[in-house]
Amino acid sequence: QLPGAPRRIGASGHIVAMSSLYETEPVGYLDQPRFLNAALLLDTELDPEALLDGLQAIEHELGRVRTFRNAPRTLDLDLLLYGNRVIETARLTVPHPRLHERAFVLVPLGEIAPDLVHPGMGTTVRALLDQLPDRSGIVPSTEQIRIPDDC
Ligand code: AMP
Repeated sequence: QLPGAPRRIGASGHIVAMSSLYETEPVGYLDQPRFLNAALLLDTELDPEALLDGLQAIEHELGRVRTFRNAPRTLDLDLLLYGNRVIETARLTVPHPRLHERAFVLVPLGEIAPDLVHPGMGTTVRALLDQLPDRSGIVPSTEQIRIPDDC
């Protein structure tokens, strides 16, 4: 499902950067295959809720079926940061509440945006990465996807 995601996300704005793909160990529910993770930086005119609508429509289109928490899934698109905004609504928490403690998020995010500041914590992505106890479960994938030319 991942190769189809950048083109659809790019339809909501302009993709400024995209990380490599990483193979990562599952978190929470462990009896499932490894995940593929990537981070993408999007320049968009959409407000955060409209962007979330778009991401959820893409998850739906590419076949995500919700079963149980941390279950295997075809595609999961999270809104990690939205500029320096701090958002807390019924549908949306930004920065993503577990961003700062997840190696599978911070490693790809650090590849494309190490100097971004987490607005709630006042700390750069690079500093959050340095504080991680263990990132051994995050391995560069042999598979790659690229930003489509018109995105
Ligand atoms: P997940 O199962 O991880 O895809 O979680 C999806 C749910 O989390 C949806 O109901 C969203 O409304 C909610 N949510 C809250 N904050 C965020 C965020 N920053 N990015 C994506 N989904 C979010």
